[in-house]
Parts: sequence; structure tokens; C-alpha cells
Amino acid sequence: MSDLLKMTATQAASSLLKKEISSVELTNAYIDAMETTSALNNYVTPTIEIAKKMAENSDKTFAAGSAGPLAGLPIGVKDLFCTKDTQTTACSGILKGFTPTYESTVTSQIWQSGGVMLGKLNCDEFAMGSSNETSIFGPAVNPWSAKDGAALSAGGSSGGSASSVAAGSALMSVGTDTGGSIRQPAAFCGVVGLKPTYGRCSRWGIIAFASSLDQAGPFTRTVGDSALIFSAMAGHDSKDSTSASVGVPNFSDAVNSSVEGMRIGIPGEYHMDGMDDEITRIWKQGRSWLEQAGATIVDISLPHTKYALPCYYIIAPAEASSNLARYDGVRYGNRVDAETLDEMYEATRAAGFGEEVQRRILIGTYALSAGYYDAYYLKAQQVRRLIKQDFDLAFNNVDAILTPTTPTAAFELGAKISDPITMYLNDIFTVPANLAGIPGISVPAGLSKQGLPLGLQLLAAPFREDRLFSVASAIETQAQFLLAPARSAGELL
Ligand code: GLN
Repeated sequence: MSDLLKMTATQAASSLLKKEISSVELTNAYIDAMETTSALNNYVTPTIEIAKKMAENSDKTFAAGSAGPLAGLPIGVKDLFCTKDTQTTACSGILKGFTPTYESTVTSQIWQSGGVMLGKLNCDEFAMGSSNETSIFGPAVNPWSAKDGAALSAGGSSGGSASSVAAGSALMSVGTDTGGSIRQPAAFCGVVGLKPTYGRCSRWGIIAFASSLDQAGPFTRTVGDSALIFSAMAGHDSKDSTSASVGVPNFSDAVNSSVEGMRIGIPGEYHMDGMDDEITRIWKQGRSWLEQAGATIVDISLPHTKYALPCYYIIAPAEASSNLARYDGVRYGNRVDAETLDEMYEATRAAGFGEEVQRRILIGTYALSAGYYDAYYLKAQQVRRLIKQDFDLAFNNVDAILTPTTPTAAFELGAKISDPITMYLNDIFTVPANLAGIPGISVPAGLSKQGLPLGLQLLAAPFREDRLFSVASAIETQAQFLLAPARSAGELL
């Protein structure tokens, strides 16, 4: 594995600035890694020529002294972000071949900051899934493997975004999180994944799944790198009416700032029956690390936690069914011709959408239909409010909340795909943050008995990502996860 691939983004940025390395060299190392790790199926549309061009341009900005904060850093993009003139499919058959004429706000901010686009990354179809197995391109594979050698899921829906950063075929990547799609794959692949506060990053140009829950966020190898790229992604955008008009601090300042005196909540409701022992072990470990770092641990209660998953699986499909109505074979994407207009709609949507997406459309349409709206959708919105209130109350008393990210380590490909309910249960610890609109981060904390990464999740009050960075970096320092022997996926392949 090239030494260039071992650098964190923060290290690479500083070497680039000192002209010890060039972006062309760094980018070429990543392009080679994309090739050698292609069996992981992370990139659905590599953009090698664009990457080379952007790297050359970045090197010119270093020469001219006008380099942006992400200048020269090679970055992968979930195939849910519209990228101008580059195919964008949401990993769905219905959008195969779709080439946007515009660029999403988040990606355009990254490119304006000097980032280099490596390509579009695999994900579940329309971001619906927890294993990347609903992708029309087949699953992204986790670079970590269990001791028995079985191929493991990279998690989902942003499986390619997590796997590429873990495998060293992207220095950083971006994904989206509607119910856990950044934090869960980050935990499965042993990388850092941040879901920002709802409204922190613009949703403009991101293919919509559930508009009141979707947020863009970064995948990185370290907490410091997360703060670096996030500072470039965040900010108000007049093109997204739900984007928040709040200032964006330099989040790097929060990394490694002391957690001395901070109050960290441990919610009793996250002790689930049937949770793996090793998840309980790592959670306790996290708690004692933070205590050692000078934080005070407080037992707290989030009483409506048990309703979060059912509530999410009403609201998310309801919004999805409405968002996906636009794929009618007329204005966007692919069409299957038929005799009448109605038959054309039916044939197009039956052929273009996969099974999980069709299931969500059916659930969502049912939940929104005249006779059931009050019983399901309205009720779910009321429950959502209670979940949000639980967090509001908790954050009157604590600065951050510590939980596991997932109930298990990465599972085998194929293990859960035929049972949607088992698959949905994966999201049990991640969906409450989306329902409440609060930020969450998953940080790698250790390895399971099988030698697989385990993540810890931190949650904070709206717009307090700075606190997440402080507490996550305290865990990162103590966990020394980067030193774990199986860390270097390049060597595992
Ligand atoms: N796994 C969850 C779902 O299938 C969350 C997906 C996401 O966050 N995009 O809906």
C-alpha cells in the first residue's frame, strides 16, 4: 500500500500545502487503489479523467497561493448527489443513464474548496436499505472480513461511501443519512461518519428519499478529517427552504478540545434485549474512556425510544412515496412504452423500481391514504414530536449522549435481505436522531471477537456538532483504533 494512502486528509492537506506531495501524485495513488479494490464494488461511476483534471487544477492553486481548504484531496460521492454531466442514478434502474445538468450544493461547495472528485459511490436504491444490497449495481462489499472469511455487508445505504474510505480507495467521501445511512455503514467499516443537524447542509440537488429526515454528511478516517470536510459542506443555501440560516464555525477548533467537565448522558432505553454482549462491552468502555478524560457520566431516560423505529417506518415511506411519484417515465429517467398513459406509468415504475423501493411506495401510499392518514401518518408525526421532546429535555441536563451505533457488527451479505423487519431493526439506535433533527456521529471504538469494527454513537443538541467533534476525538484518542492490526484494508484484500 502506497504511503500516500496512509495519510489522513489533515496530513495530506498539510503536505500538499508544503508542496511535499502534489495532488496529481495523491490522486493517482487513489486511482490505482480504486483499481486494486474494484472487487469491493464501491464505485458505480468512476470519474478518472475528471479526477486527473481537478488534481492538476488544484496543483495550480497551490502554485498560485490560492488553494482552498480541501485543495487536492481525493473525494468519492454517493450516487445520490447530482453531479453535473456525470451519471447520477441513486443506484436505481429507473435513473440509469440519467445525467444531471446541475450540481448539488454540497458537492459544488466541496469542489469550490478544491476537492477532487474520484467518482460516484454505490448505495442502496434511493438510499433505502441498511446493507447496500438493494442497489441495481449489486452490493458494496466491506473491506473487513470475519475470521471465517465470509463476505460482509459494508452497511447501508451509503455502503460504497464507507467501504471506499476504509479500503483506502477514497481519502474522504460524502453520503446521506435518513435513518442511519451514514452512521451505520461507518460503524460497520470502521470509519468516522457524521450526520449533521437537519438543515445544516443544503439538500438541494440530492435525490430525495424522505425530505424531513435526509441530511448529507462526510465519511472520514479521523474525527479531525470529519471537521475539515464538514466545515466546507455546511452552510445556508437559499435554494433549500429547509436549510438553516446559522453561521458555520471552524469545526476543526472543536477537535481535541477538552471534555473536562462535560456531562455525557447514557440513555437506559438503549439497553436492548438480545443486543450482542460485545456491543454492551464497547459501550461501557466508551463510558469509562470519557470518565477518564474528565467528563461526568449521567444516566438519562429517553422514554419514547421504543416508538422511534415504527414511527420512522411510517414517516420515511410516506415521504418517499410522495417524492418518488415524479419518476413517471415522462420527465425523468427511463420509460417502458405501453398503449395508454396509465399503462405506461405502471410498466415504467414496475420495471424501474426494485422490490424494496416498491415496498416503501406501497407502505407510504397506504399510510397517506384518506382512511388511514390520521391513524398512521398523523399519529407518527405526534410520536415524532414526543421523541424530539425527550431529547430537548435530556440536553437541558447533558452536553452529549453516548450510545452504540448499531446492535451488531457487520453481518454477512445475504443474511438479512429476505427479511425486511430484521433489516429494519438495524436502524434502532440511529433513527431517533433523524426524527429529532439532531446531529450524530459514529466513531470507531474497537473490534468484536470476530475482529470486526464496532462503532460508538454520540448525539448532541441541534447545531452542536462542535460538541460531537470534541467528545468523538476524546474517544478516538483513547480507542487508538487506527493502530488496530487489521485496520489497513489494503493489506486485507
Ligand atoms: N436503513 C434505513 C432505511 O432503509 C435508513 C436509510 C437511510 O438513512 N438512507 O430507511
